[in-house]
Amino acid sequence: MQTTVVDHPLVTHKLTMLRDVSTDTPAFRQLCDELVTLLGYEATRTISVEPVQVQTPVGMANGVKLARPVPLLVPILRAGIGMLDGMARLLPKADIGFVGLVRDEETLVASTYATRLPADLTGRQTFILDPMLATGGSMETVIRMLINRGAAAVTGVSLLAAPEGLARIAQAFDGDVPVRIVTGALDQMLNEKGYIVPGLGDAGDRLFGTI
Ligand code: URA
Repeated sequence: MQTTVVDHPLVTHKLTMLRDVSTDTPAFRQLCDELVTLLGYEATRTISVEPVQVQTPVGMANGVKLARPVPLLVPILRAGIGMLDGMARLLPKADIGFVGLVRDEETLVASTYATRLPADLTGRQTFILDPMLATGGSMETVIRMLINRGAAAVTGVSLLAAPEGLARIAQAFDGDVPVRIVTGALDQMLNEKGYIVPGLGDAGDRLFGTI
């Protein structure tokens, strides 16, 4: 597995505001949206393209266009929804699938309550969106779903990651399908409730309100 911690002052600046407990929900949503476009730039670095030529007003220019089949974006419900618009803006032709996972707060084990994914992902590049890569349980579950459907490559995009979660993904996937994690920061650790420290709290609650 390849891990990229995006080292950019704008990312760190926006993450700092995101972490701040006094940042309210509208600002939090806006920051998430801006951050995912910055992380998405790095996450799409190996996106498949094919050569094209276009006529400019002055001559012919060599360029590229996104190759088919189009990529698949998969936000993990519910917090991943906060990253969807920003990523879809970068890849407007991408298809979008959904996986809903809920974490048992005692055992920290995630269970699936919704899955809307194409049955066949052969040859497709896929991007999982989840703001917090904490224990890595949700990310591992969804990576496995995509690989089992034939995905050619899986990139997990998170705003923050914990060392424990990254280690779990690295251990789980060392096979033929390239798995990559792109994150805005690598934090210190998980606490006993499975929260990232220092983290930013519950990303879903901060995006959409406490339930
Ligand atoms: N999920 C969150 O929303 N926050 C964490 O710190 C860990 C998991």
